[in-house]
This record gives sequence, C-alpha cells and structure tokens, in this order.
Amino acid sequence: MPSKRKPKRSFKRMKRKYVFRHPSSLHHYEAAVFALRCFDNRFWKVFKRLMRHLGLGDIDPESVAGGAKILSSPEKAGDRDFILRELAKSIKLHRTKRVMLFTHHDCGAYGGEARFGNDEEKEFAFHCQELAKAKKIVWRKFPKLRVKTYFVDDKGVIDTTHLR
Ligand SMILES: [Zn+2]
Repeated sequence: MPSKRKPKRSFKRMKRKYVFRHPSSLHHYEAAVFALRCFDNRFWKVFKRLMRHLGLGDIDPESVAGGAKILSSPEKAGDRDFILRELAKSIKLHRTKRVMLFTHHDCGAYGGEARFGNDEEKEFAFHCQELAKAKKIVWRKFPKLRVKTYFVDDKGVIDTTHLR
C-alpha cells in the first residue's frame, strides 16, 4: 500500500494576505522608452500625461532624486554606473531603443530655484546644459539609442534635445 504521507516540502508555505487586490497583466513587453525622471511627485501627473499624449504605452520609468542629474552631476561615484546598468537591463529585458531624460524646475536635488536666485532663465539655461551632458553620457555607452531630453516646469514639458 502506498504511503499516505505527503513528500516533505523544502520550504514553508507562506500565507498570502492581500492588503489590496487588483489584477496585473503578465504579458512580456517591449519598452517604448526608458524614462529617467526625478521622484518629485509634483511633476508625476504631467509626466504620465506626456507619456499618454505621445502614445507611449509600456515604458520603463526610473525615478531618482534629480532625474538626469544622476548622469550629468552624480552625487557619488558609482551613481552614474548604477543608472547605466539599469538602462542596460531595460535594453536586455525589454529591447528598449529610446531614452527620455528629464529634469525639472525647482528641483531640490539641485538646490531648488533658490540656487538660481529665483531666476527662471538662468535655471533653464543651466538645466539645458545638464541635460545635454546627460545625453552625451548615455550616447557614449549606448550609441544606437535614440535619446531625447526634457525640462518640466509648472506650465508643461519642454523638449531641450536640440537646445544648448
Ligand atoms: Zn527634483
């Protein structure tokens, strides 16, 4: 007679207690873009709306303090490599071919608008330089990627890709 004893599991079965129930699609996707932005929640809504406006569905969003600052003016050695590894993973896992780099007005990671003496033109010119530098750094490592840069303020999003 076969033994009624169940084979021993090598792990303890854990009880799943959901705090929130909502289905998630498990289909594997190709990312339309790897989007690097600051985690500042004030500009989250406009970011989401821009993605929808551009018809970008599946994206790989990366949010770190300062957004593209982590490439152009990283706080610590190694921060830049970290984000470039993130991008490499996005390319490997989701065949990402486009990158969007963002910075924004009054970013705390840059010292806020006070750093520019509340001069919005000075701030914008600075961010254009930072974004151009960030773009170059991505291109140096991934020359085949299409890279665009953006500055976000309280009125909307400005494409700075061809501005210097
Ligand atoms: Zn910020």
